[in-house]
Amino acid sequence: METIESISCPIVFNDGFAALNRFLQDGNYSKVFFLVDEHTGKHSLPLLIDQLQITEYDLIEVTSGEENKNIDFCIGIWRTLIDFDADRKSLLINVGGGVLTDMGGFAASTFKRGIDFVQVPTTLLSQVDASVGGKTGIDMDHLKNIIGTFAQPKAVFINTNFLKTLPQRQLLSGFAEMLKHGLIADRTYFNLLKEASPEAIDPVLIHRSVEIKNNIVLQDPEEKGLRKILNFGHTIGHAVETFSLKNNKNALLHGEAIAIGMICEAFLSVEKTGLPPAELEEIVKTFNRSYEKYTIKEASFPAIIELMKGDKKNASGKINCSLLTQIGQCTIDNFCTEDELCAGLLFYLNC
Ligand code: NAD
Repeated sequence: METIESISCPIVFNDGFAALNRFLQDGNYSKVFFLVDEHTGKHSLPLLIDQLQITEYDLIEVTSGEENKNIDFCIGIWRTLIDFDADRKSLLINVGGGVLTDMGGFAASTFKRGIDFVQVPTTLLSQVDASVGGKTGIDMDHLKNIIGTFAQPKAVFINTNFLKTLPQRQLLSGFAEMLKHGLIADRTYFNLLKEASPEAIDPVLIHRSVEIKNNIVLQDPEEKGLRKILNFGHTIGHAVETFSLKNNKNALLHGEAIAIGMICEAFLSVEKTGLPPAELEEIVKTFNRSYEKYTIKEASFPAIIELMKGDKKNASGKINCSLLTQIGQCTIDNFCTEDELCAGLLFYLNC
């Protein structure tokens, strides 16, 4: 499939890594580093290396998991780069899910004031979302992505063959972000996804999601306005995700939490931005088909609201949501009261 032109980097889709080979040949890098975690080192790196004409490289391995997307692991990456004499002509190739591409991108964009990096996303979520758009970051004190940079990779190389080893729960997590793309930007695409099976996604649908995300980012690279529509479901979803990470051994995956957030925020959209109730029903039915209900105690609502107050989209202390006017259209900067947000959470529990 074709290459999608991004703001400053190409997004290459299912080309068998021919473009990455050319990139490595032309790049004349002094050193090449692959960043992997224990899963992508085992499942994805061999698949990639097999296709590359590269003999010399160094490997950096981090431990998988959102709880490790932090400054300590970043220091580990920087330290290894120093130990292996990385200079400013070195390249970091991030092979992994969103945790790894976010953290690897951040580590590269700050090392020696920035070295080149490329993203090779290996989860559905990172292919359709995290690797596209140039946001890098790490978490701190349970605040997600609170430290980070806008930094464009040199290129993104998407290969859907990586998804063959991805656990089903992770596929569903990525599928939530695909549903979001339909809800905020493309009614026809949402209709196609309603019929699709998340366990065996057609690459054409993945390609469409990348296109939607990229089109939005192209228009507003630094999230001054329009790009905020990508945050639909994320004000409540991020808070629920953080709450589950802090309090629960079986924490929610990113996409699972965003699926909850989208139901809550679709409910708020009916009252606040005119989403037709029949479309709310359609959205609930679509999510309930794929995602199990997650129990949130009402007594936890105040703690979840507290977490929303730390959301990066807020302004002047008010909690801000991106809400739908109809399926396929989204508005930004809708301030919501604590009572409204609690009503959204309550709706999720009972729908
Ligand atoms: P993840 O990175 O934690 O990966 C999920 C799990 O799958 C990990 O255990 C990983 O080791 C494993 N894995 C990865 N590829 C595999 C493969 N091919 N086969 C088998 N196992 C594999 O989770 P994720 O959902 O990819 O990413 C979530 C992160 O992405 C969150 O931190 C979120 O904040 C971030 N994110 C960033 C952006 C952005 O714009 N930068 C957008 C959305 C999400």
